[in-house]
Amino acid sequence: MSDRKRILTGIRPTGALHLGHYAGALENWVRLQHDYESYFLIADYQVSDYADDIARVRDSVWQVALDWLAVGLDPEGSSFFIESLVPEHAELTTLLGWFLPVSMLERNPTLKAEMAAMENPEDGSQERKPVPVAFYTYPVMQVANILMPRAHLVPVGEDQLPHIELTRETARRFNHRFKPVFPEPEALVGRVARLVGTDGNAKMSKSRGNTIELREDAESVARKVKGMYAGPPRGATEPGKVEENPIFLYLDAFDPDTDEVAALKETYERAGLPNKVLKDRLTEVLNTKLDSFRERRARYEANMGLVKEAIEAGTNRMRTISRETMEMVRDALDMNYLGRY
Ligand code: ATP
Ligand code: MG
Repeated sequence: MSDRKRILTGIRPTGALHLGHYAGALENWVRLQHDYESYFLIADYQVSDYADDIARVRDSVWQVALDWLAVGLDPEGSSFFIESLVPEHAELTTLLGWFLPVSMLERNPTLKAEMAAMENPEDGSQERKPVPVAFYTYPVMQVANILMPRAHLVPVGEDQLPHIELTRETARRFNHRFKPVFPEPEALVGRVARLVGTDGNAKMSKSRGNTIELREDAESVARKVKGMYAGPPRGATEPGKVEENPIFLYLDAFDPDTDEVAALKETYERAGLPNKVLKDRLTEVLNTKLDSFRERRARYEANMGLVKEAIEAGTNRMRTISRETMEMVRDALDMNYLGRY
């Protein structure tokens, strides 16, 4: 084992990854993967809201792994692993549940918003669903995920911050009452804390279907950008407000030529600009970015055996570290008591 500090972060296998994942999280993972000993989790226990579509979850495991490889995560220098193949995560979830008051889940703003969206989908496009028990407690499992490799850093999107706070609190309580097993991990939010959806909604999200996927082809990206929400109706030569047009949020997020974006904003506010000009530019910027991903993805898609090997190797590394942590936890909680007699 190296003496580098550790990263733990992950994604649910509920669909292919999109630009929000990239700007909010993946970009940091790629940047930091070698500075830290990095563990990337495919959270296939935490899919209770997709329990009636297991086929999608199974397929998404491969999509997520391919997307990770496509953006440049290195499966040898870091570890990709599948949660359910390291069932210690379920065991640790059970034990950590001792230390988390229900009130902390009740107050958790991300969990509250997600449960409300399930019980009352705002636009009627999705089916209303009862909240499964496992959904209510998924933040506890996320705490276990982070504490399992005794991680120091958790690079995530902004919506995950309440869960990291829960993790810090749990680590503090456990260490204080028993033995100092867990570091208190820090969160690290990406360059774009929360990317808006193509429909103008506050969050691009797999569940809302307002995404541009990392695997999407050039024509499909062009079509989606063309259909994007670009603020209130406005004549092409009518000055507009930059903050009302989310196309600028995307240009800010992905256009490397910041001077040009500043010039476009200035013209937009002073004299107006047709949305087509902005959208054409965005299409080009995105397709340039996605081209390198597409190429790498295609190489792995043609050799899925490599993807499987990468997951197996990473999962084995996580198994080793999980056994080590569980021994420390069992010792701290005096769970080897039968051996005393
Ligand atoms: P679901 O809607 O099924 O929950 P999701 O798109 O929210 O899916 P997750 O697997 O829950 O994806 O999140 C994976 C990671 O990506 C988290 O760190 C999350 O904060 C980040 N993330 C997801 N969507 C965005 C977004 N629109 N902007 C920034 N970060 C995001
Ligand atoms: Mg989510």
